[in-house]
Amino acid sequence: MPSFEETGLSGPVLRAVTRAGYEEPTPIQAKAIPLALEGHDIIGASQTGTGKTAAFSLPIVSQMGPSTKPQCLILEPTRELAAQVEDQMNVFSYYKPLNVLLLHGGVGYGHQIEALENKPDVVIATPGRLLDHIEKGNIDLSELKFLVLDEVDRMLDMGFPPDVKRIIDDCPKDRQTLFFSATMPGAIQTLANWALREPVSIEVGGRRSPAETVSHAFYPVGMDQRDEL
Ligand code: AMP
Repeated sequence: MPSFEETGLSGPVLRAVTRAGYEEPTPIQAKAIPLALEGHDIIGASQTGTGKTAAFSLPIVSQMGPSTKPQCLILEPTRELAAQVEDQMNVFSYYKPLNVLLLHGGVGYGHQIEALENKPDVVIATPGRLLDHIEKGNIDLSELKFLVLDEVDRMLDMGFPPDVKRIIDDCPKDRQTLFFSATMPGAIQTLANWALREPVSIEVGGRRSPAETVSHAFYPVGMDQRDEL
């Protein structure tokens, strides 16, 4: 297992990793980070709890340069997952400050439009709301370099594929795409074949069983109680 230093991450990112208390890479990080730093597209079969977020975020932060338009777009199926990724992105960019913007539905457009005018480097979004912004001309993805499609099987289950396809169509063809899904049924493989260029596949752990580091609980609550919960 390589150390974080041996994966080739830049100095500011390594310092942020140390500050986060991470001592060594998880298996998916050890595999994905060097490949992503080499510029490969990646298909990762790996669940939440395996360190997947850092596996895609660290090499992207490491590679990002100055720009006035979004360079990185991360699509997540739910606002909760998107918010978790935002938190981690802010941790990893501690010594290389980036303007990270979270876009999801269920809230007004005003603040999001203002924030989009404020030149975000990284946009983390759920598909429906992002597509609204694209169609209204509020976001310019023409300088995008990194596209992350996370939890793709869940996005598919939630009926997002047409939105996801239209968003990918709006991204420049010359980009690096990192694609993660816990399961890889045919429809997802087809989407991956279309969205990725000569991807390298990485598989960590069993594809169908939940990660052992995650415990599950079910709390039935009304929409109005969700944030509080
Ligand atoms: P994820 O699979 O991305 O949802 O990550 C699961 C949890 O593991 C998160 O709380 C991370 O902060 C934590 N984590 C990720 N990578 C490492 C690492 N290399 N060492 C320690 N904790 C980690």
